[in-house]
Amino acid sequence: MSKAQETVLEIDLNALTHNFNYLKSKLKPKTKFLAVIKAFAYGSDSAEVAKHLQQLKVDYFAVAYTREGVALRDAGITTPILVLHPQTTNFETIIDRCLEPSLYNAKVLNEFIKIAEQQSQKSYPVHIKFNTGLNRLGFCKRNVDFIIEKLKATNAIIAKSLFSHLAASEDKNELEFTNDQISTFKSIAKEFSDKINYTPWLHLCNTSGVLNYANAHFDMVRCGIGLYGFGNSAKEDNSLKPIASLKSIISQIHKIEKNQTVGYNRAYKAVDIEKTATIPIGHADGINRIYGNEKGFVIINGQKAAIIGNVCMDMIMVNITNIDCNEGDEVIVFNSTYKASCLAESVGTISYEILTSISQRVKRSYLHK
Ligand SMILES: *Cc1c(COP(=O)(O)O)cnc(C)c1O
Repeated sequence: MSKAQETVLEIDLNALTHNFNYLKSKLKPKTKFLAVIKAFAYGSDSAEVAKHLQQLKVDYFAVAYTREGVALRDAGITTPILVLHPQTTNFETIIDRCLEPSLYNAKVLNEFIKIAEQQSQKSYPVHIKFNTGLNRLGFCKRNVDFIIEKLKATNAIIAKSLFSHLAASEDKNELEFTNDQISTFKSIAKEFSDKINYTPWLHLCNTSGVLNYANAHFDMVRCGIGLYGFGNSAKEDNSLKPIASLKSIISQIHKIEKNQTVGYNRAYKAVDIEKTATIPIGHADGINRIYGNEKGFVIINGQKAAIIGNVCMDMIMVNITNIDCNEGDEVIVFNSTYKASCLAESVGTISYEILTSISQRVKRSYLHK
């Protein structure tokens, strides 16, 4: 690892390989692997992550929105891409860029068929999403006949897969609920397959589903957070490697007197003679304002330095009164030792949010042997 000279998000592609292989080791050899790279590959860099995973022969990608899929095509990605949450206004672009929509209600199904027919498509692959308890997106079981009727009436599209999403796959207390979701999904899939003359793939599990429900991997799994190094449990976190390290440097050190204040609105007041360090990273970079006022911290020379006062747009000030350090020294926000999941816990959020908040302003650099 190189020493930071400015704010940088270092992305370790070797760690990505490790996580991919670890998650794959949990699957049967025939189970396909879909890598979820929405939200800039969980705040890292979707093009670089996708290129790397494509080299590793990942079977599928998923993004949330159409624009994210277009960006991958623009970067030269040729692997199939499932768009989890397309809008009807994007359907022409979807077909134009060879993206595959998730169709989750009658309106989007009808509209996609209409556009695929207008464009004389034959067997264009789509993915039918079912709601089995998350109550977010998806058809329900009683819609199966309607969907089958629509599919039989057109040759413009085929249901490449049927899928659903687990609501609490990381929570062992929700075993019963999750098993209910699994059996609902199975019964929808059976009814659907019985009524159509081909066999769509089935997929249900996200990362925690893969790790906790080996009986529910079906034909493909959809992993996001695990690829980026987090397994939603202390045990799994030990087997995975965070791929992203967010680093910065100390721009300036101040010695302040008792009762002097730090930052906007004078939100921090020194209780004694104290030392502060100013770091070039702020809420516009993804250090959320709620990390301020000593909720969040950074690591300097192996020690925790609390963020004091309000987080500014481009800077934070931290308390280094008891830390031996100098201007120009490296600052770690998170890395593979000081994990984003720990910072998340202390500010009351989850690793997903910490990672995806890192803004596009932060320079990316890559480690690859
Ligand atoms: C984001 C997402 C995933 C990936 O979940 P992880 O917990 O990050 O593995 C899988 N499926 C769907 C539908 C998603 O929206």
